[in-house]
Amino acid sequence: MRLDTILGAGRRPLVSCEFFPPRTDRGEENLWRCLEELAAIRPDFVSVTYGAGGSTQDRTRRIVTRIRRETALPPVAHLTCVGATREDIAALLDEYRAHGIENILALRGDPPEGMDRFEAVAGGFEHATDLIAFIHERGGFAIACATYPEGHPESPNGVDDDIRYLKMKQDLGASAAITQYFFDNSAWFSFMEKAAAAGVTMPVIPGIMPIVNFPQIARFSAMCGATIPDWLRKRMEPLADDPAAMMAAGIEIATEQCRELVDAGAPGLHFYTLNKSAATLAIVGNLGLER
Ligand SMILES: Cc1cc2nc3c(=O)[nH]c(=O)nc-3n(C[C@H](O)[C@H](O)[C@H](O)COP(=O)(O)OP(=O)(O)OC[C@H]3O[C@@H](n4cnc5c(N)ncnc54)[C@H](O)[C@@H]3O)c2cc1C
Repeated sequence: MRLDTILGAGRRPLVSCEFFPPRTDRGEENLWRCLEELAAIRPDFVSVTYGAGGSTQDRTRRIVTRIRRETALPPVAHLTCVGATREDIAALLDEYRAHGIENILALRGDPPEGMDRFEAVAGGFEHATDLIAFIHERGGFAIACATYPEGHPESPNGVDDDIRYLKMKQDLGASAAITQYFFDNSAWFSFMEKAAAAGVTMPVIPGIMPIVNFPQIARFSAMCGATIPDWLRKRMEPLADDPAAMMAAGIEIATEQCRELVDAGAPGLHFYTLNKSAATLAIVGNLGLER
C-alpha cells in the first residue's frame, strides 16, 4: 500500500518500524525473526535502510522485495544519492516498481566510510531535494524524506536551514517526513511550530530510538548530532553493567517520550529498531497501540 494512502486513511498515531540490512546471512535470519515478532503489532509500514556499499545495497533490495512478497506489511525502501548516477537510480526504481514496491524514503545519504564529507558522483545528485524531484517526476512512488528537529550537523544555520529544505522537499513531492531521533521533546515541539509557520503541512513523524545499549546510542548520537540530555546520561551511565536494568529504563523513558508526543498530536511513531524487537514491542504495548 502507498504511504500517502496509509497517511490519508487518518489512523493516528501510525506505528512504523525501521530495520537495517545486516552484513551476514545469520544477521538476515535474525532480521526476519525480528520482523515476524513485530508483525504481531501490525505496524502501518516498515522501512529498510540503504547502505553506502554494494553488498548491503543488494540486501536492502532483497529484503524490501521479500517483505512485499511474503508479508502483509507495506515496505518503504530507503534510497540515497551515495555513489549513484541518475541512471543507476532510475534502474533501481524500475526494479522496485516491477516488484510492487510503492514507497521510497529519499535521502542524500551519509558519506561512505573513510570519507568525511558527501560528494556527489558525476551524473548523480547533490541533495535529497534533487532525488525527490527526480523520483516525483518519474512518478509511481509515494515519497518520504528525512528531517532533523535538532538541526542536521552540516546545516550552517541549524534548524532554520532544515525547515527551509523540509518545505522544499514537500514542494518537490514528498508526502511525509520522518525525523532523526531525539530525546528531548521540546526540540520536536519547537521544530514543528516553526515548520508549520513555514508552510509544512505534510505529516512529520518523530523517530524514536529506544535505548537498549547506552554506549552504542551515545556513539551514534555523537555522529548524527542528536543531543543526549544530562538527565538521560545520569540515569543510564550507572546501569552500564546491568543490561536488564538498562533495557527496562530505556523502555520506560521511551514510553514516556512517546506518550507525550502522541498526546500532543504527533501523527505517528517511527521506531529505530536496530533489528531488535523487544523494546519496541514493550513500548507499543505500554502505549496500548497494538492493532
Ligand atoms: C529517517 C532517516 C532515515 C535515514 N536513512 C538512511 C539510510 O537508509 N541510509 C543512509 O545512508 N543514511 C540514512 N539517514 C541519514 C542521512 O542520510 C544523513 O543524515 C545525511 O547526512 C543527510 O541526508 P538527508 O536526506 O537529510 O540530506 P539533505 O536533505 O540533502 O541534507 C543534507 C545537508 O544539506 C543541506 N541541504 C539540503 N537540501 C539542500 C539544498 N537543496 N541545497 C543546499 N543544501 C541543502 C541540509 O541543510 C543538510 O545540512 C537517515 C536519516 C533519517 C533521519
